[in-house]
Amino acid sequence: MKAFRFYEPEVPWKLEEVPTPTIGDNDVLVKIKAAGICGSDLHYKHGRMKPGKIPIILGHEIAGVVEEIGSKVRNVNIGDRICVHYIISCGDCVHCSQGNDNRCRNRRSIGHHVDGGFAEYIAIPSRNAFKLPDEIPFEQGAIIGCAVSTAFHALRVGEFQPGDTVAVFGLGGVGMHVVAWARVFGASKIIGVDIVDFKLRLAKEFGADFTINAAEEDPVKEIRYLTDDLGVDVSLEVAGTEKTMEYALLSACESNYASGRVVSVAAQFKPIVIKGMRTLREGALRKSGDHTRDDLRRVIQLVKAKRIDLSKSITHRLPFDKLNYGLEILDEKKENILRAVLIQ
Ligand code: NAD
Ligand code: ZN
Repeated sequence: MKAFRFYEPEVPWKLEEVPTPTIGDNDVLVKIKAAGICGSDLHYKHGRMKPGKIPIILGHEIAGVVEEIGSKVRNVNIGDRICVHYIISCGDCVHCSQGNDNRCRNRRSIGHHVDGGFAEYIAIPSRNAFKLPDEIPFEQGAIIGCAVSTAFHALRVGEFQPGDTVAVFGLGGVGMHVVAWARVFGASKIIGVDIVDFKLRLAKEFGADFTINAAEEDPVKEIRYLTDDLGVDVSLEVAGTEKTMEYALLSACESNYASGRVVSVAAQFKPIVIKGMRTLREGALRKSGDHTRDDLRRVIQLVKAKRIDLSKSITHRLPFDKLNYGLEILDEKKENILRAVLIQ
């Protein structure tokens, strides 16, 4: 089969002919139809994140059709449309037992430790295949596997409640869906912050009430103004810069004993100076990582029921061999990109 393999940072990923993977008794072989390009893939591209093996097929937003099943597989059949849960968990450890398979002690990630979706086929444990209802196109199935579910999980970690005010820093594939979910779940005020005007315009369509260009205005000052000097109930950092983390901290609600929740979603690679620490209260600062099996199951049902509209989420549908181009435009914020998906 054809696959893009990653060897080292800062060089184009190589399109190569590699053996089609074989499956074990509990695995399924999936013919990939759509694979999304995530902001996380840029961290590999620039060497900020190192994959678990070299060479590796990266890509963790994956949807396709089951082509073969192992002898013990019961949950899916040949011909089923599926999307991939990229976290391979043991199901037995303390965290899995508590429903937090994203924190599995024996976790391995598809498109990080084991081969991922920038290929024609992928072999995965059958429990990582989630049936995709006919109503959901493959391209949406792919981004449900990371961008849409990560955003859903982040609001859960932020203990979002209807009526809360929300600020989102970084309106990319993940942050834009935080805005969308906040709208679905009944936020009273949604404030989107980015440095790209196209993202700010699009955020209004996804449900933001106010947008702030952080390259032109001080978002903390604006958010204070928009919240009667209180700050927001949930402040989510999804850009991955020290500056946006600082903004997120300083924009969270501060009152005598209550505090807004600050959720760090993006990967941070530099030490963070917590300038708002003095005013942060109990339980204020949280880290959100990935999403759980239960999140993914719920997200699929909500998309199927049309509670959330993903029709504007994919701005670029690229032929499979254009992966390096997709990475480049995401990296350089070109062509009004939100999410690019490789279509096969
Ligand atoms: P993306 O490239 O689509 O989005 C990043 C956004 O941040 C862009 O809209 C960009 O314009 C904006 N931005 C950059 N600098 C900014 C600044 N100074 N101020 C305001 N906005 C700024 O990436 P993505 O796919 O949305 O991913 C975002 C981050 O989340 C990445 O770090 C990625 O690794 C991480 N991520 C984490 C998880 C998780 O499980 N926690 C899952 C997926 C992605
Ligand atoms: Zn991702």
